[in-house]
Amino acid sequence: MAVSEKAPLRVLFATPEVAPWVKTGGLGDVSAALPAALAEAGIEVRMLVPAYPALVAAFPGRIPLVQVERPGAELLPATISCVALQPRLELLLVECPAYYERHGGPYQDRSGRDWPDNALRFGLLSRLAALLASSETPLDWRPDVLHCNDWQTALAPAYLRYRHEAGAASVTTIHNLAFQGLFPMARIHALDLPVAAMTIEGVEFHGRISFLKAGLQHSDRLTTVSPTYAREICEPEHGFGLDGLLRHRRDRRSGDLVGILNGIDTRQWDPATDRSIAARYGARSLALKQLNRAALGERLGLALQADTPLLGMISRITRQKGADLVIDAAPELLARGARVVVLGSGDADLEARWRALAAAHPGRIAARIGFDEALAHLIEAGADLFLMPSRFEPCGLNQMYSLAYGTPPVVRATGGLADTVVDCTPRTLADGTANGFAFGPPTTEALLAAVDRAIEAWREPATWRRLQRNGMARDWGWGPAARQYADLYRSCLRAGQ
Ligand code: ADP
Repeated sequence: MAVSEKAPLRVLFATPEVAPWVKTGGLGDVSAALPAALAEAGIEVRMLVPAYPALVAAFPGRIPLVQVERPGAELLPATISCVALQPRLELLLVECPAYYERHGGPYQDRSGRDWPDNALRFGLLSRLAALLASSETPLDWRPDVLHCNDWQTALAPAYLRYRHEAGAASVTTIHNLAFQGLFPMARIHALDLPVAAMTIEGVEFHGRISFLKAGLQHSDRLTTVSPTYAREICEPEHGFGLDGLLRHRRDRRSGDLVGILNGIDTRQWDPATDRSIAARYGARSLALKQLNRAALGERLGLALQADTPLLGMISRITRQKGADLVIDAAPELLARGARVVVLGSGDADLEARWRALAAAHPGRIAARIGFDEALAHLIEAGADLFLMPSRFEPCGLNQMYSLAYGTPPVVRATGGLADTVVDCTPRTLADGTANGFAFGPPTTEALLAAVDRAIEAWREPATWRRLQRNGMARDWGWGPAARQYADLYRSCLRAGQ
């Protein structure tokens, strides 16, 4: 589709989460910040999101635009309504109370079970994304590019292919390849997909429907959230069976798979302006960080000591995030006098192990199981070191928050962690790039060795200040990523001309 150089680029950004209203992880943060940064850069963006209860409550004045009576097959009718968020940025809500207005999470009920009709719930979101991006759209606004995010929207490029004559260029972003949206083949009719789609070149994956594969197969371009993760998912170890397809897309002449590092929302995450912390500070007033340390210790009942560090961790409590590595390392961390605070929720057995550790070591280990945005800010500001030993990490936001907050992270060198954390060595200290500590093997021993190096550096105030300031000096905001996405959108339009 041709676009004039002068007309603003139009992007329909389809996503299942948007912070602060609906967020289970980094995708919610990305969906809040990236569309805003794109709009600031002059792109017209409409964000398509299910009208979950939190969004319905937040926007009582939303304006209904259109009712889609027959989205297809067993998919329920929906109304699309609209809210203006900022210049050039609107939220389009998919209102279908039977699918989306439920008590529980966006994907699971309160007891952690997947909603049984997730295929239809996110089939509808994908179906409407395709409709709005097609020549048959009922709206008077038609995008140049449809940008899908993760499996929940990744069926849209397949609908564009199988159900519409003409449509926008499509981009699918993989925020985490581990979640693929796999459903029984029998759902194909309910989802309004033709039987012809149930092939290896279509949406089929080992006898099931894979929403994510549909996007990987049918989108014009694929992105993921860091350059290192883009390479890793092309290898069997991190490819979840899709590495062959990803290699194929990467190796095409147009280089269809690219890694674009996420940014952080500096309106929310800046220690100089953060309203959730005890004392605001910057790279030149790092002494004030101590006040946050003290406030955090007091809030959690930790007996802090001046000569041993406070280690913080905020994440889903899962093996992906290396929660088990830290739990196994806990006795050794305590033997070094360290204090540990963990905030998160996830696998029941790992949560139970954290609770047991906290109960066995009051004043030395604090475990807060649950979601607590304000406490997350105070941990980033108050901890001395941040732990993020992920087995794999598409991008990761928390290590960037900790870098911006002068809390050097200890990470496993993988995915986005490898692209953001520069291991402290004599060479990287000398050239001014060192900002944290990275280790290789996913073992407790390797984690402890990195923590030991970090504690040694923490005890040298001049070295520590350099590390902190190196991390704080870099612009972690969304500007650079927004420019790369804009270039990508334009390149896929040029290719389609
Ligand atoms: P994920 O793989 O979960 O998307 P990221 O590091 O990319 O991991 O993003 C996680 C986001 O969720 C961050 O904004 C982080 O601060 C936040 N987060 C995770 N767990 C919690 C929690 N228990 N309380 C508050 N914020 C949390």
